[in-house]
Amino acid sequence: MADAEIIDGKAFAEKLRFRIATATEIIKEQYNKSPGLAVVLVGEDPASEVYVRNKKKQTIECGMTSFEHKLTNEVSQTELLDLIQKLNADDRVDGILVQLPLPEHIDPQAVLDAINPEKDVDGFHVVNAGKLATGGDALVPCTPLGCLLMLKDYFGDLSGKNAVVVGRSNIVGKPMAALLTRESCTVTIAHSRTKDLPSVCKSADILIAAVGKAEMVRGDWVNNETVVIDVGINRIPAPERGEGKMRLVGDVNFEEVKQNAKAITPVPGGVGPMTIAVLLRNTIQAACQRRGWDLPNL
Ligand code: NDP
Repeated sequence: MADAEIIDGKAFAEKLRFRIATATEIIKEQYNKSPGLAVVLVGEDPASEVYVRNKKKQTIECGMTSFEHKLTNEVSQTELLDLIQKLNADDRVDGILVQLPLPEHIDPQAVLDAINPEKDVDGFHVVNAGKLATGGDALVPCTPLGCLLMLKDYFGDLSGKNAVVVGRSNIVGKPMAALLTRESCTVTIAHSRTKDLPSVCKSADILIAAVGKAEMVRGDWVNNETVVIDVGINRIPAPERGEGKMRLVGDVNFEEVKQNAKAITPVPGGVGPMTIAVLLRNTIQAACQRRGWDLPNL
């Protein structure tokens, strides 16, 4: 059998960013304003700094306005909540993103709860989680929405597909399952207590791996009709690249699974690049919903 088709998330994200830039142009022409995204970074976590830099770069490249707020590790929770209130009240800001993780003395839930749900472009606020679960006009977490956009591009119609989501976190697994249910898939949510996970996965037309365990999904867990979306990002030692070197792998054993599945997203270059593009898409959606603007085609 031929190897699985590789779903190129990098190329898909580039096309999405092009559509976002076009939508921003249309908004500027119609309303003489550009959507604004505020990103708040607390502390000096190197990985977070890279993410925030990329977010800013892509925001500007797509023609939107970027507001960056860098706070030191010593900032108090009250000071951070004050900043969130200012951003909530600032009409130039359509989306607010607080980069996680936060330092230990700050309760992340209190911070996420303080964001105006209309500006909650990460989709983590309980109001947006509730709207997603009940079929409302939610702002949806970026990573699962990115997975859904790729699946819809691949299949067209998802209705009736058997989807297995491995992982039930609030930021990936649960919203992913809700999105697939909304598309009329038959959804199974698997987790650490699931019995006989390999055979549950093997029944899937769509398999989403969002576990955080390097290369856990093996070649014999899929069938030749399974389309595999690997959300995992794990760093493992790569002695072949030199002493102390690391490499990125997903939650799926790519080499094994690509021999048996129908299609698969690689790591890196699959789901990862979609996340920032969807953040910008959410910012346009938030701007249009809050301001009553027509939402251009995305
Ligand atoms: P969490 O740790 O919050 O959740 C992991 C889930 O996997 C839990 O529901 C857990 O089950 C389940 N799980 C753990 N071990 C097993 C097992 N052996 N068998 C079956 N299920 C298991 O992780 P996240 O959802 O935040 O992230 C998942 C992965 O996605 C990580 O690798 C993360 O780095 C990556 N990620 C990637 C993003 C991207 O942009 N590409 C963005 C966000 C995350 P239980 O509930 O029973 O404990």
